[in-house]
Amino acid sequence: MAESQKRIVIIGGSYGGLSTAHYLLKHVVPQLPEKESYQVVLVSAADQVLCRPACPRALISDDLLPQDKLFVSIPKLFDQYPKGSFSFLNGTATELEHTSRTVSVRLAAGGGSSTEKIDYYALVIATGASTPSPLLSLNRDIEFLRTKWAQFRKALPTVKSIIIAGGGPAGVETAGELGEYLNGRAGRFASKLANPRVAITVVTAGSDILPALRPAIAKKAEHYLAQVGVTVIKQARVKAVTPEGAGTDDVSAKATVTLEDGKTLEADLYIPATGMTPNTGFIADKSLLVADGRVDTNASTLRVDKAGPRVYAIGDVASTARPAVHLIFPAIPVLGANIKRDLLLAAGKEDKSVGKDRGFKEDTRETQMVPIGKGRGVGAAAGFQLPSFMVWLIKGRDYWLWTTGNLWSGKQWAKES
Ligand SMILES: Cc1cc2nc3c(=O)[nH]c(=O)nc-3n(C[C@H](O)[C@H](O)[C@H](O)COP(=O)(O)OP(=O)(O)OC[C@H]3O[C@@H](n4cnc5c(N)ncnc54)[C@H](O)[C@@H]3O)c2cc1C
Repeated sequence: MAESQKRIVIIGGSYGGLSTAHYLLKHVVPQLPEKESYQVVLVSAADQVLCRPACPRALISDDLLPQDKLFVSIPKLFDQYPKGSFSFLNGTATELEHTSRTVSVRLAAGGGSSTEKIDYYALVIATGASTPSPLLSLNRDIEFLRTKWAQFRKALPTVKSIIIAGGGPAGVETAGELGEYLNGRAGRFASKLANPRVAITVVTAGSDILPALRPAIAKKAEHYLAQVGVTVIKQARVKAVTPEGAGTDDVSAKATVTLEDGKTLEADLYIPATGMTPNTGFIADKSLLVADGRVDTNASTLRVDKAGPRVYAIGDVASTARPAVHLIFPAIPVLGANIKRDLLLAAGKEDKSVGKDRGFKEDTRETQMVPIGKGRGVGAAAGFQLPSFMVWLIKGRDYWLWTTGNLWSGKQWAKES
């Protein structure tokens, strides 16, 4: 990193962060006066990007999805840009000091023993959110995820029962994948699988699974789950799990799950798939966060207004929208345009020559696709129910891996939009 350059630091190398980096390098930095004086610095805890929605299938076995598409090395994706315009820092942001405009990063190299403090001219926070189960996301780095998958897989052949807490898409998809893999699927006209080898139970607090979809679609999902040996317990909340750490620290532990009504369930494996925790631990000033821990982000401009000039947030970490990839995509050009505007103004351009802010608006229509094993699925897009075949075609076939080639390489952002 050249000391004299103005750094546009992006923290988080996934859907939000990688897309922003490509967009800035293609459409923003080249249009700035003295463009060589800027450098996009991408900081990420992992040096590879993961197709995260694929975790419910990928966690079972490396044979189920092509590994070279599931994990992709980040630095190589940016070789296409002029030398000096981009730099990758493999490390974890540990402290943001927004008044002095610096971020401290614990470097992955050397086993995390050294820290670098970098100052930023502009900052994009794209650190996403962690899942309670370490099997379902890149909560740390790739090695950590692979270690957890290995522990879980080792236990699988002998299990007789699995409890999954959470009736959202992550819980339902994981139940469907495990059900089909371990039990197989009942015939098309059977209402449920008789005598499944492994009893898989989804426990949900809601009156139905998949609360983002209408009840009729949720019922269809329940039917598909029953066909792979999955039972759903509704209106039941998990109150406690013993031993402590089962399903989180120890993904292969047997667990006793106590529900709110006092009932207890025993399981050979327990997977918590309830809610997510925003990755904002490095933001010491809690006034920059909203009550649920996400970054307090202007829902229209994507600026973090309280953090000083040229600070933005995007993706699951931002308070802007629901956590979903399809809501990040339309936000990227808005973010790019507003960063460009701010940088041009800071470079001395006049207000009238740089145009107005662009505004983001969350699309709140019913949109969610939930594969249930390899051959079935439920969902809706823009308010229209999708047939099982369409869910398979779009998502269930390979859990979006067909989309990530263009996304990670930046081709998706070839045009300024
Ligand atoms: C099981 C599952 C299935 C899903 N399926 C779908 C789906 O089908 N469709 C859909 O639209 N959405 C889906 N989602 C949601 C989707 O995955 C998220 O919306 C998306 O991953 C958010 O991207 P992001 O870039 O904001 O953050 P993330 O993908 O969470 O990535 C954040 C990145 O930041 C890094 N990071 C975190 N903290 C730090 C730090 N302090 N310093 C440096 N780096 C850090 C992380 O390692 C990670 O690489 C699914 C989510 C899960 C868990």
